[in-house]
Amino acid sequence: MSKIKVTIFNENLHDKEENVKAVYPNGMHGAIKECLDADGRFETKIALQDMPSHGLTDDVLNNTDVLFWWGHIIHDKVDDAIVEKVYQRVLKGMGLVVLHSGHFSKIFKKLMGTGCNLKWRETGDLERVWVVKPSHPIVAGLGEYFELPHEETYGEHFDIPAPDEVVFASWFSGGELFRSGCCFERGNGRIFYFRPGHETFPTYYDENVKKVLINAALWAGAPGGVFQTYGFWHTDNYNK
Ligand code: ZN
Repeated sequence: MSKIKVTIFNENLHDKEENVKAVYPNGMHGAIKECLDADGRFETKIALQDMPSHGLTDDVLNNTDVLFWWGHIIHDKVDDAIVEKVYQRVLKGMGLVVLHSGHFSKIFKKLMGTGCNLKWRETGDLERVWVVKPSHPIVAGLGEYFELPHEETYGEHFDIPAPDEVVFASWFSGGELFRSGCCFERGNGRIFYFRPGHETFPTYYDENVKKVLINAALWAGAPGGVFQTYGFWHTDNYNK
């Protein structure tokens, strides 16, 4: 069976800071790549924001089944022309997995059509991630919940349109609640937003989080049908 082609985009700025390098010596993109490579069902490549075209050339995008997206402080520096190309690829069926602070990325906001704002607090609270859709393929192999001993806190209200499915809901030891795993469809494309993944915590090494990353890549990268013919439809098309 052919492998699912995954491209992992990272703005790669925090990853150069000493305290983050201590946690992720190969960058967060490196940790995510190692996780997916170890699984064996994916062919992975890295795209960094300071590469030409942010590493997201037409050739790369046209050969990507699922794009992972981690960004935080330089969302505004992502070229609008590249965002438009990613957007069109999602509509045509490319999966998109948006991680953590990617909630404020241009591509996520464009696909959601809302402000995508939220409450946040960086105090290293415990996060309990509850499975709220036990039949969903993204939760395969998980228990009823899993815990991350220290994470950044995000809190509702999260300004997104009603998701097609909420897969995870988080509780934080400070009291906040958050819809931390949300599925959307746009055109032929599947989008998964996954909340955990603050750069100073070893979240992407957590065994449960790794299961989610793998399951999300499988779900978002599952092949769909043909891209529909929209607009004028001639009856001759039935005879083709
Ligand atoms: Zn963060």
